Amino acid sequence: MKLIVVGAGASGMTAAIEAAKAGISVTVLEGKEKAGKKLYATGNGKCNFTNRNMESSFYYTSAPDKGLIENTLKTFGFEQAIHFFSENGILAKERAGYYYPSSGQASSVVRALERRVCELGGEIVCDTEVTGIKTRKKGFEVTAIHSIKQDRKVQKTEQKSYDCDLIVLAAGTRAGGFGCEVTGFDLAKSLGHRIIPVTPALTGLICKEKKFFQKTAGIRIDALLTLKGDSGEELGTERGELQFAEYGISGIAVFQFSRMAADGMRKKRKMSVKIHFLPDLEKIKIKDFYETNRSTGLSVSELLSGIYPEKLVHAVLESGHDPDRPVKKTTWEEFWKLCERLTKPEFQIEGVRDMKNAQVLAGGVDLSEIREDFSTRLTKGCYLTGELLDVDGKCGGYNLQFAWASGYLAGKSIAKLTQR
Ligand SMILES: Cc1cc2nc3c(=O)[nH]c(=O)nc-3n(C[C@H](O)[C@H](O)[C@H](O)COP(=O)(O)OP(=O)(O)OC[C@H]3O[C@@H](n4cnc5c(N)ncnc54)[C@H](O)[C@@H]3O)c2cc1C
Repeated sequence: MKLIVVGAGASGMTAAIEAAKAGISVTVLEGKEKAGKKLYATGNGKCNFTNRNMESSFYYTSAPDKGLIENTLKTFGFEQAIHFFSENGILAKERAGYYYPSSGQASSVVRALERRVCELGGEIVCDTEVTGIKTRKKGFEVTAIHSIKQDRKVQKTEQKSYDCDLIVLAAGTRAGGFGCEVTGFDLAKSLGHRIIPVTPALTGLICKEKKFFQKTAGIRIDALLTLKGDSGEELGTERGELQFAEYGISGIAVFQFSRMAADGMRKKRKMSVKIHFLPDLEKIKIKDFYETNRSTGLSVSELLSGIYPEKLVHAVLESGHDPDRPVKKTTWEEFWKLCERLTKPEFQIEGVRDMKNAQVLAGGVDLSEIREDFSTRLTKGCYLTGELLDVDGKCGGYNLQFAWASGYLAGKSIAKLTQR
């Protein structure tokens, strides 16, 4: 039995390993020059590959229920992910529930997966972008363009054709600027699949207050964020490190909101984000600090810069406050008012960043067309896995978990076919 896997990414290589274990002849076709290009970039190069808190509530889909996600996590949850990697030569380490390879390097995960596919007799053919999948009376014909490169430059391309009995479409998405010209969605559509409209998720928010962000770009600070709707109603809160950029805000806490913000923007809702910087800093502590420094020759901006990032202090004080005013001449009440202005600003959201700047895409292949083993209801012998499907997770290892799990279940199901 011959299997072709389209895409040597997270779910594709996992499916390839499980199928190859059963003696199936596996060829993985990868459009890029090497396997796992997106994987190298995950978790800032450290690959946050799963999470201890693994429940379907951390995932989104437009399907009427989360049955497929629940079943997937029940069969292949975070413990199975850790076991799978341990079996394939990667020891896990935990940080506050988030799991990474002990090496701290995403590259070790990619190498382990590639090594295992090849050890089991499978092959990974790079620089080979799949351009079409045709169903035959028995099996499939896969067409691809193979690039011959020298010094990373394409010298020649040639059309290739592969016959196979089974196919796993694991081509992911172009989120983060990865992926190929012919996308997984193009290939899925050609097989008759319905694609739920896709939007960027896990990305930064573009804010209206451009001048403020030009002055504060680069700041990283602990914050509590509240996303607010049209009439000021709270839509959700997130806590984490906030990063300021010229376009607005970024960081994990912002990423967690971005899906909801994108949804709101699409519905033309007015949205804002209220930020509480250093939420653990108590008023009493600031008062003590003020009293301690009251008789020194410090200016208000100098004292505030001992509490908050300097750029932030200057950006806020510029509007209608004298930054050089001595602390000596500033009452506690006046000082506290400034602290409050500084710590709880609110910004208008203008949009979310594009697909190139997003970690994942929301939307994808309609789950009603997918069975619990990730085979499709539309085409016999065809499986669809990973981010291509209408499932996206929160930031924290959830998207990779779904990729490993769906690839594993597809591979296992294919392996069972040899026992019939
Ligand atoms: C910057 C960044 C950081 C991230 N960090 C994390 C993290 O720390 N934790 C987490 O859980 N998730 C993270 N993610 C998300 C995660 O990487 C993806 O959800 C996951 O890799 C999806 O797996 P997949 O198998 O569906 O697709 P991918 O891993 O993207 O693999 C798809 C493969 O298919 C190939 N391909 C595409 N089209 C074709 C074609 N026509 N022919 C041949 N090959 C093709 C692609 O080149 C690619 O190698 C991150 C994403 C980004 C962009």
